[in-house]
Amino acid sequence: MQSQQKYPQPLSLEFFPPRTDAGFEKLKGTIDALGALKPQYISVTYGAGGTTQARTVETVEYIQTQTPHDAAPHLTCIGQTRESVLQLLHTYDQLGVNRIVALRGDLPSGMLDPGEFKYASDLVRFIREETGDRFTLEVAAYPETHPQAKNCDEGIKWFKYKVDQGADEAITQYFYNVDSYLYFIDSCEQAGIDLPIVPGIMPITNYDQLIRFSSMCGAEVPRWLRCRLESFSDRGDMEGLIAFGRDFVTTLCQRLLDAGAPGLHFYTMNQVEPTLSIARNLTIHHPA
Ligand code: FAD
Repeated sequence: MQSQQKYPQPLSLEFFPPRTDAGFEKLKGTIDALGALKPQYISVTYGAGGTTQARTVETVEYIQTQTPHDAAPHLTCIGQTRESVLQLLHTYDQLGVNRIVALRGDLPSGMLDPGEFKYASDLVRFIREETGDRFTLEVAAYPETHPQAKNCDEGIKWFKYKVDQGADEAITQYFYNVDSYLYFIDSCEQAGIDLPIVPGIMPITNYDQLIRFSSMCGAEVPRWLRCRLESFSDRGDMEGLIAFGRDFVTTLCQRLLDAGAPGLHFYTMNQVEPTLSIARNLTIHHPA
C-alpha cells in the first residue's frame, strides 16, 4: 500500500442526534470534552428512516454555530426527493457547513420505493450538479465489502463509480482486521481510485451491542476477538472488557496510522471515555 498519509493525520468524530432534550444537553458536554482532541470535523448521522432527521439539523446547527468545531452532516438519499435534498443543502449552506457525508442509507422495513435516488452515487452527482464545489463530499467505503455487493470486484466497481461522481474523501465501515483495510486500499489503487480513505473506528465497550450492530451492518468481529469479549461478558467483568477493548482498539489505530492511514474517524456512540482513552494514547505522525 502506498502511504495515504497527510501530516499530521487528522481525527474526526461521529455522533448520532439525541432523541430528547436531556440527551441534547448531555451531548453538548460530550462534544465539549471530546473537543480536546481538536477534531478536523464532527459528523452527525441522519436516520434514513426519518425519525430523527430534524434532530440532525438541530445538532449540526449547534456544532456549527455554538462550538469552535466544523460540523459535517450525514445525508442519506434513500426515500428522499430532489426537492427535500435541495432544502437540506440550502439549510447547510446558510449555516456555513462545508462538508457533507453523502450516503444511500437503508430502506426502513416495509418501505419498498427508494424514491428519486437509488444509490449514493446518484446523490453525489446531484450535489455536485446543484452546488458545484461548495461542499467537501465524504462517502462510505467497505474494506470487508458491503453486504449487498455481489462480490468484492462489484463493490470496488461501484465504489469507483461513486467516487468518480465527485467524492473528495471516504470513511470506512468499522473493522477489526488491519489486513482488510490494507488489501482494500491496494484494490482501490489498482482500480485507479485516488482519494483519502479514512478508517472508521468503533471502540469496544459492550459485547452484546457490538455483536448485534456488527451483524446488522456486515462488519466482522473475528472469532478469537468475539470469544475473548464473550468471556469477559459471561463473567460480568465489564471493567476487564472495557480495558481489553481499549487496548485492542488503540493497537488497531496505531497500526493503521503507522501503515499510512490518512486519519481516523471515530464512531463515538456519543460517549466521551472510549474515544478519548484511545485517541490520547496514539502517536499522530508529524513530518520528519
Ligand atoms: P452505496 O454506495 O449506494 O452502495 C450500496 C450498495 O449498492 C453497495 O453494495 C454497492 O456495491 C451497491 N451499488 C452501488 N451502486 C450500484 C449500482 N449502480 N448498481 C448496482 N449496485 C450498486 N446510514 C444511515 O442511515 N445514516 C447515516 O448517517 C449513516 N452514516 C454512515 C456513515 C458511514 C461512514 C458508513 C460507512 C455508513 C453509514 N450509514 C448510515 C450506513 C449506510 O447508509 C449503509 O451502509 C447503506 O447500506 C449503504 O450506503 P452507501 O452510501 O454506502 O451506499
